[in-house]
Amino acid sequence: MTATIIDGKAFAANLKEDIARKVQILKDQEGITPGLAVVLVGEDPASQVYVRNKNKSTVAAGMNSFEHLMNDDVSEAELIQKVEELNADPSVHGILVQLPLPKHINEAAVIETIAPEKDVDGFHVINSGLLATGGQGMVPCTPLGCIMMLKDKLGNLSGLDAVVVGRSNIVGKPMAQLLLNESCTVTIAHSRTKDLAAVVGRSDIVVAAVGVPELVKGDWIKEGATVIDVGINRIEKEDGKTKLVGDVEFDSAVKRAGAITPVPGGVGPMTIAVLLKNTVTAACRQAGVEEPV
Ligand code: NDP
Repeated sequence: MTATIIDGKAFAANLKEDIARKVQILKDQEGITPGLAVVLVGEDPASQVYVRNKNKSTVAAGMNSFEHLMNDDVSEAELIQKVEELNADPSVHGILVQLPLPKHINEAAVIETIAPEKDVDGFHVINSGLLATGGQGMVPCTPLGCIMMLKDKLGNLSGLDAVVVGRSNIVGKPMAQLLLNESCTVTIAHSRTKDLAAVVGRSDIVVAAVGVPELVKGDWIKEGATVIDVGINRIEKEDGKTKLVGDVEFDSAVKRAGAITPVPGGVGPMTIAVLLKNTVTAACRQAGVEEPV
């Protein structure tokens, strides 16, 4: 069997088009322009690239983009004050503080300052609690993108065996929760899991969010399983150049899986598109209007 490649770029492009259409409806019919504020502390080059891409995509969707750049010696109190200002600003519907933050700043304290209804990253403890208890909160972008791609590919996920490899608060745990909400039988694997190959081998859905290049071997995959590779790892090739690989050994997994996301071009492009989707959702909820269909 050769797997279908799940094209995250195409999926994200469709989603962005749909978001731009909804934004136009909100502008025309409700006078609302959804606004996303991104706070970047310091000059980490990777974070700068992410923030630039977010800004470009936000503007392209017809939304307002507010960028707040702060020096890496900013104090925790100053950063918290900035978040509070954004909480109070009615033109800002979504707030994202780009992580990681410098070591002298307590990330949790900053995230807990974001108003939960503006927390478009879905990292606030209130939003984690709402996800766990079936409430209507903001759902973290990467796992939400993964579940959207899974539902698009497989339709009803009910009763399927799923494994999430990785238990981080931003990917693994919310991913497992979303799969559980779809009535999958969910296993969460991590660095202490005894026999990862066996756990993966019995799963209809494998989501890998580890950060270890090609940890999940292709011959572990159950024939026909759907594989979502969240990992983004830069490795050095024999010729000294670098390339991006996922957490799954793609070349062998593609021969056993039914469908698989590539790296790059799979989950990555979905994350920003879902961030825009969350901002539109947040804007509608804050204005008390129905989200356009
Ligand atoms: P974390 O480092 O926070 O978590 C990694 C998880 O993997 C931990 O739960 C850890 O287990 C587990 N793990 C580590 N080694 C092993 C192992 N040998 N066997 C099984 N489990 C293991 O990472 P994130 O969740 O933040 O990110 C995971 C990956 O996803 C990274 O490559 C990151 O770059 C990528 N990512 C991609 C995004 C995208 O947009 N596509 C967005 C976010 C992340 P334990 O808890 O026991 O230590």
